[in-house]
Amino acid sequence: MNKNEPVVLRPAFSWDCPECSHGNFELAIAAEMSEEELEEAVRAMYGIAEWDEIPDGLGGDFLTSPLNVVCAGCEKEFPVLADDFGMDEENE
Ligand SMILES: [Zn+2]
Repeated sequence: MNKNEPVVLRPAFSWDCPECSHGNFELAIAAEMSEEELEEAVRAMYGIAEWDEIPDGLGGDFLTSPLNVVCAGCEKEFPVLADDFGMDEENE
């Protein structure tokens, strides 16, 4: 018996269409940022002070969602409600 190849799961967002209730998935997009921006984002996210070293293992790619999505069911396009996962420039 052949084992099937393992698959790699990618992070994705799911949403339900408000028009036709179709369940949709959108692939997450790796946010494009410089080393400095990435470091800043990691510090903000984990509450690491500027003078403290960032522990190994933190960081990596920050994922962001698309700005618009198209329903696979009814093909209508919808804007995505902004949710930047605490990556706001200003903290609340
Ligand atoms: Zn739809």
